Amino acid sequence: TTDVLILGAGSAGCILANRLSADPARRVTLVEAGGFPTDPDIFDPAMWPMIQRRPYDWDYRTVPQPGTAGRVHHWARGRMVGGSSGLHAMFHLRGHPADFDRWGVMSGDAGWSYDALLPHFRATEGYATETPLHGARGEMPVMIPEAETHPLVRSYIEGWQELGLPRLPDHNGREVIGAAPNALMIRDGRRVTTGEAFLRPVLDRPNLTVITGAEVHRLRIAAGRVTGVEIRTPGGDTVLAAGQVILSMGTIGDPLLLMRSGVGNPGVLAAAGVPCRVERRALGRNLHDHMLGAGVVCRARKPVAPSRLQHSESLAYQSSRGLDVHTGAPDIVVGCVVAPSVSECFPMPAPGETFTLLFGVTHPTSRGELTITGPDLADAPRIDPRYLSTDHDRTAFRAALDRARMVAGTRAMRDWNGGEILPGPGMRDLDAFIQRAAITHHHPVATCAMGASDDAVVRPDLSLRGLDNVSVVDASVIPAIPCGPIHAAVMAIAQKFAAGQG
Ligand code: FAD
Repeated sequence: TTDVLILGAGSAGCILANRLSADPARRVTLVEAGGFPTDPDIFDPAMWPMIQRRPYDWDYRTVPQPGTAGRVHHWARGRMVGGSSGLHAMFHLRGHPADFDRWGVMSGDAGWSYDALLPHFRATEGYATETPLHGARGEMPVMIPEAETHPLVRSYIEGWQELGLPRLPDHNGREVIGAAPNALMIRDGRRVTTGEAFLRPVLDRPNLTVITGAEVHRLRIAAGRVTGVEIRTPGGDTVLAAGQVILSMGTIGDPLLLMRSGVGNPGVLAAAGVPCRVERRALGRNLHDHMLGAGVVCRARKPVAPSRLQHSESLAYQSSRGLDVHTGAPDIVVGCVVAPSVSECFPMPAPGETFTLLFGVTHPTSRGELTITGPDLADAPRIDPRYLSTDHDRTAFRAALDRARMVAGTRAMRDWNGGEILPGPGMRDLDAFIQRAAITHHHPVATCAMGASDDAVVRPDLSLRGLDNVSVVDASVIPAIPCGPIHAAVMAIAQKFAAGQG
């Protein structure tokens, strides 16, 4: 028997396993479909764009998206101990304080506001120097690049200063609008996953059991509780007894498991051949994600040396209302990649001779849905983010593209910019270009969103409405996406939940 069963050893699951097993009286079991990562490429920061679609990537696909010219988008998700922190681009950014204050309002619980979350952010962070805003005693190393920053990226940051945007020390202060090198989850030149940072150091705890290579198939439900968890391993199927069950299988994995188990929208479940046990219509809805336009690609006037970091070295957050707006939440972002970066719709320009300005929308209003298509693990999910389905998103995307072109035209960038290849001077229909250039920024959230209303999938304490002994703790509970990459927020969610468990 076990007191706590954590399903999914991803970004959130590894932190939960660490924190909850710190109490020797609590028996914790962590279950993961993948294994401990062995491919050395995972740990080489520069390799991150190349390691998708390998066996440790779930490699999901969306349905064709009318908002992006009917394209199907690949969604990478880590299938390994460490989860998507084994695939991600290592950028550590919390988001703007207003993003979390909004969570406080949506959940009806001020515990999710920025000031209340700050100790939880800090508790996971291992910055070199401790400040009131930066934690130094947490397990996840956060480096702020200095000498390692690419010369092109330095010019890019200067370009923004020329246009009036502030230069920030990093993006984890109280203001986010401005340009800075990306703070990175890298130590001694190596990617650090949550598996490495939080789980490996505690693997010898006698009260912690880690089961890898085990896919969670279904929850057994009786009288409003989970009584057992059915898992599939290479050695066969088994059932784990459940005390408290925590779902940490991510934005895609959690709703799929719940739906396979008979939780969800009765119509969706009936169509998939699953009897409905618990009606929860909001499950799988509210799905949203950031996108980036890939990209404004420029010919370089001089050779572009390879990145010593992870290629995409700086994001500049800003307001579409004007470059003189320096406070409050941003609504658009432009990033500098010291390599070519294009969607599958365009031929890849030559590395070393080109660079890319990515551009995107920080708070998209498009909302989609994720559903199962059948009762089995092998039944592919139906993932429909409804990308670029609102005027807000399309308009903000155009504003972001204009800004990318503006910074490319600055004096600071003159030594680098040898002319625009994409969209290119001849491209008349920029909306059509964006539809073909937009790619996922890899931040899907909100399929089990927390909320104050009885309809919301989880309560503000992250307990699941409808099943007494189940909580959901990972990116799926995020009610509205913060402005930037979401990993810092996922770590804070896990840290906060564990701190509340006594
Ligand atoms: P995950 O980390 O995905 O964990 C879920 C775990 O559950 C996985 O280990 C999975 O194998 C397991 N699981 C799922 N289903 C089952 C099942 N049925 N049975 C057993 N186990 C199961 N964020 C940033 O902040 N900065 C970045 O630079 C950044 N770049 C990114 C780049 C890429 C390519 C990707 C994919 C993501 C990126 N992100 C980034 C996003 C960030 O990594 C994720 O949002 C975050 O890791 C999600 O954490 P999670 O705990 O919700 O889920």
